[in-house]
Amino acid sequence: MGDDVELEILHWRVRVDADATRAAYAVVPRGGADTCECDYCRNWVAQRDALLAGPIGALLAQLGIDGSRDAEVVEYGPELASGLRHYEAWYDCIGSIVAGRPVRPAPGTGVVPAATALTDRVGIRLTDSSPLAHAPFAGKALVRVEITARLPWIIEAPPPS
Ligand SMILES: [Zn+2]
Repeated sequence: MGDDVELEILHWRVRVDADATRAAYAVVPRGGADTCECDYCRNWVAQRDALLAGPIGALLAQLGIDGSRDAEVVEYGPELASGLRHYEAWYDCIGSIVAGRPVRPAPGTGVVPAATALTDRVGIRLTDSSPLAHAPFAGKALVRVEITARLPWIIEAPPPS
């Protein structure tokens, strides 16, 4: 496609169609976290705008990704020392990784390699597998952008135990 641009993201290089990605997100009614009632997702949504006001929001915008329209948000529990919660949020972008290895679970163990730090609390992984992608992305070559974030618990309801 003529609108493709190449971008360097940490140690990857991607070729993406940000306009087509924006157009796809424009017809996604709501993100995964917004369709879920659980307190983990509510805690994510409560601080999502603040998170997206930082460098990760700028990066997603550059790719045409709407940060409020995640494919899935997952919470992996608290960090012992700080109490910050480990979150992941998954997004998709129309395009492909042209340099740098897609991050994939290790064969055998299924362990997913650590994200590459973007800031002290936010990391990213780029990969080429997009489970749970929103319908407008079906059948397209995609870059899956996985964000990891260490976030405080800010909603009134206590964390589920
Ligand atoms: Zn949830």
